[in-house]
Amino acid sequence: MLDCAIIGGGPAGLTAGLYTTRGGLKNVVMYEMGLPGGQITGSSEIENYPGVTGEITGMDLMAPWPEQCMRFGLKHEMVQVERVSRKTDGTFVVSRSDGEADEALSVIVCTGSTPKRAGFKGEDEFFGRGVSTCATCDGFFYKDKEVAVIGGGDTALEEALYLSKICSKVYLIHRRDTFRAAPSTVERVMKTENIEKITNSQVTEVYGDAMGVTGVRIEDCSESRTWDLTVPGIFTFVGYNVNNTVLRQEDESWLCDLNDWGQVIVDLGMRTSTPGLFAAGDLRIEAPKQVICAAGDGATAALQTIAYVDEKQNG
Ligand code: FAD
Ligand code: NAP
Repeated sequence: MLDCAIIGGGPAGLTAGLYTTRGGLKNVVMYEMGLPGGQITGSSEIENYPGVTGEITGMDLMAPWPEQCMRFGLKHEMVQVERVSRKTDGTFVVSRSDGEADEALSVIVCTGSTPKRAGFKGEDEFFGRGVSTCATCDGFFYKDKEVAVIGGGDTALEEALYLSKICSKVYLIHRRDTFRAAPSTVERVMKTENIEKITNSQVTEVYGDAMGVTGVRIEDCSESRTWDLTVPGIFTFVGYNVNNTVLRQEDESWLCDLNDWGQVIVDLGMRTSTPGLFAAGDLRIEAPKQVICAAGDGATAALQTIAYVDEKQNG
């Protein structure tokens, strides 16, 4: 029986691994289907991790994290977890894609969430070189420059507002003429002078050179007209897939409470509605989707997990 099973090896999972093992838990396994590090390893430059200065890639930032955890006894199983379920005695079963299953007293789910792709030409080629899904991460690279934002939901409009304070101009490109974001957010966007709305329009292509993006091609859906915008950066906010499938039970119910968007509901201790089950990082409600925040969540969840396991074993 594991003291703790950690699902996912990004910043949240690795920090949970560090704090649980260093805090005295025995038999802690982190299940990470790829190399540990998480989605930040796909970033070519990270400037906002406190204390880390100079040019550093996401891969560089994360490289020492696994070794630090392993020194305190964290084990890594490179396997995908298919499901976490709970037995009647309150312990958990971790079902793995290789057909094996492990038992654990507690579980911390850190599987993250994945921004959806919009699907225009060049999106993958220029991802991280002008195409971004994170304004907090990359907005500063476009200080006093013009950028484009795609989407008409809350995220797109809130991030357009954020970018409007850094960039000289934001083109907000949306495929319909009404926005699905909250009316108060739409109103703020309407009042912001340096946000230009381009509605009923789709980005069909992003293009550039070895340095990155230089422009985007736009198609007006109603008039079948195409034109180009000269911008060095384009931010796509067309929704997120919350990686919550490990919480889906055989009878289609969920192991703990989720909100309407599939994000895991937690309290300030990262406790879910199911005792012994914790969630940390980008898959939780209100996640700021930043490395520092995911790591902080992982530490918080680990400290609560140590208390939970201690109570189970000695209480
Ligand atoms: P993730 O990093 O997504 O890690 C989740 C891990 O779980 C993954 O490694 C995945 O393989 C694993 N996993 C998922 N499902 C399973 C399963 N069923 N079984 C086993 N393993 C599983 N943040 C910043 O602070 N600054 C930045 O500059 C910045 N730039 C970014 C640039 C890019 C291109 C991207 C994509 C993100 C950026 N972010 C940045 C955001 C940051 O990467 C995330 O907020 C952070 O990684 C979230 O950490 P996490 O541990 O919650 O999830
Ligand atoms: P979302 O609500 O699903 O909106 C996605 C937007 O992207 C929509 O406007 C959609 O257009 C557009 N879109 C989707 N696919 C596209 C494509 N391939 N090409 C171009 N445009 C595309 O996603 P979200 O904004 O990330 O929000 C997710 C959930 O979190 C929502 O329920 C939202 O309310 C919530 N949220 C809330 C807050 C808040 O309360 N402050 C903040 C952020 C998010 P259509 O409109 O035409 O479908």
